[in-house]
Amino acid sequence: MPQGDRTGPRGQGPGTGRGMGGGGGGRGRGGGRALGPGGNCVCPSCGEKVPHQLGKPCFEEKCPKCGTAMTRE
Ligand SMILES: [Zn+2]
Repeated sequence: MPQGDRTGPRGQGPGTGRGMGGGGGGRGRGGGRALGPGGNCVCPSCGEKVPHQLGKPCFEEKCPKCGTAMTRE
């Protein structure tokens, strides 16, 4: 009986150094965008909304309808 000797060359040797310390941790953070542009100011009195102007706080904006100081939506 032929001995099914299948002792193949199993010696794969020492695996080529698989560096686990991959330095691919660069996750771009979108910076601090707390109150981004594109918001609205809303009138607490009548509900009128106006687009928020950059560099100008809503409470400095007056409602075009009733003149109440706007607030951030
Ligand atoms: Zn108003």
